[in-house]
Amino acid sequence: MCQQPLTTEIRMTFEEFDLDDVLLSAIRKQRYNKPTPIQEAAIPLMLDRKDVLAGAATGTGKTAAFVLPALQYLLDEPKYASRHPRILMLAPTRELAFQIHKVVQKLGHFCDAPSVIMTGGFKLGTQIDVLTRACDIMVATPGRLAKLVEEDAVTLSYIEMVIIDEADRMLDMGQGPVVRALLDAIPGEFQAGLFSATLAGTGIEKFAADILDEPEIVQMDAPNTKSEQIQQVVYLADDKAHKNALLDNILKDASCESAIVFCNKKDKAIEVTEWLQSQNISAQVLHGDFSQATRLDKINKFKKNKIKVMVATDVAARGLDMLKITHVINYDMPFRGDMYIHRIGRTGRAQQVGIAINLVERHDLKPLERIEYHLQQKLPVEKIPGLAASFTIKQMEKKAAKKKKPKKKAPKKEKKNKKVKKIKKS
Ligand code: AMP
Repeated sequence: MCQQPLTTEIRMTFEEFDLDDVLLSAIRKQRYNKPTPIQEAAIPLMLDRKDVLAGAATGTGKTAAFVLPALQYLLDEPKYASRHPRILMLAPTRELAFQIHKVVQKLGHFCDAPSVIMTGGFKLGTQIDVLTRACDIMVATPGRLAKLVEEDAVTLSYIEMVIIDEADRMLDMGQGPVVRALLDAIPGEFQAGLFSATLAGTGIEKFAADILDEPEIVQMDAPNTKSEQIQQVVYLADDKAHKNALLDNILKDASCESAIVFCNKKDKAIEVTEWLQSQNISAQVLHGDFSQATRLDKINKFKKNKIKVMVATDVAARGLDMLKITHVINYDMPFRGDMYIHRIGRTGRAQQVGIAINLVERHDLKPLERIEYHLQQKLPVEKIPGLAASFTIKQMEKKAAKKKKPKKKAPKKEKKNKKVKKIKKS
């Protein structure tokens, strides 16, 4: 399989932005050489105090695209430290919130920008204690923040900037009303940035219209396309045993250093993990039922390469940020196109090349078709020598077309006979 990255032309340098030296030092410390396209587009707009609606796939560097302007805002508008947050960053899941907070801490390393993170999975009392300390930036998940506001543990009266990350996912998870209520609790004007993998559909346009004021729209990828450095491929499988054999082959290939295998359901994820372990492949399962501590422990092991394969469900894998994931494998095809984009966004992050592999049985052909329609592209079908499937997509399409042909109407005569029979019966 060819693994040449598609190159993206990057023109600007970070020095060309109106960023303070302390931020440029932090950028250098992170070894970011040049802005990614989303950073190049969104940072100047946010520094200009514009509301921004940005469509960017995961892994494109979108977090720094809003964290840098947020930090610059605090440097430009210094105020006495207080326990009331001035900048609010909302994320749909705990993992993503932690990931954002980490970027805030790293890029804010050389400035005085105290930050806190508030998510579910932790004792409310402990978090309320934390809220007595100075805080300029609050990273939070909507549900937990709403609870803290309800408890009067935090006020949103001093918010001057709001960032909403992965807004499409937030809406999918039903968090829209909570987010709207939180924003309604902000009395003053605020600058807002809304980031989303996709800008089309799922009510995102209405959500953005409610929240943003004459936003500048930044659309990095055409709607519904994947991040550029990801190679996508389909392998056809006859049945479960065949799928497992393909998976085994892919994971044992020398090119596979670290992989996420996606399953649609928890039970399937557990089953696949157990099977992989029985094949002596270092694997662990991550699903939504684990406690936050266990999830973080599993994620850390994976990040440190102590475990090669993470078998995950969608909710559990959200927000994982690992530079070294070489492969994302869809053991089950996701039901929707945006989920597919989120999944494959786990690989090919920053300037690396990643591979997204779809294992497709006959019954997965419908979801595959839906995803291809969403992406507006056909995914290439390839074969692993010795593991080719006994069917092709063309054959299946022909079969389906035959089935669809309308049946010939029964001759009128027979119909009459049937009626007579009925009358006789009654
Ligand atoms: P994100 O899309 O924000 O999740 O970022 C994906 C990955 O890209 C993270 O690991 C970042 O540390 C990394 N990253 C962000 N900006 C840059 C940059 N300008 N150059 C290189 N890597 C970057």
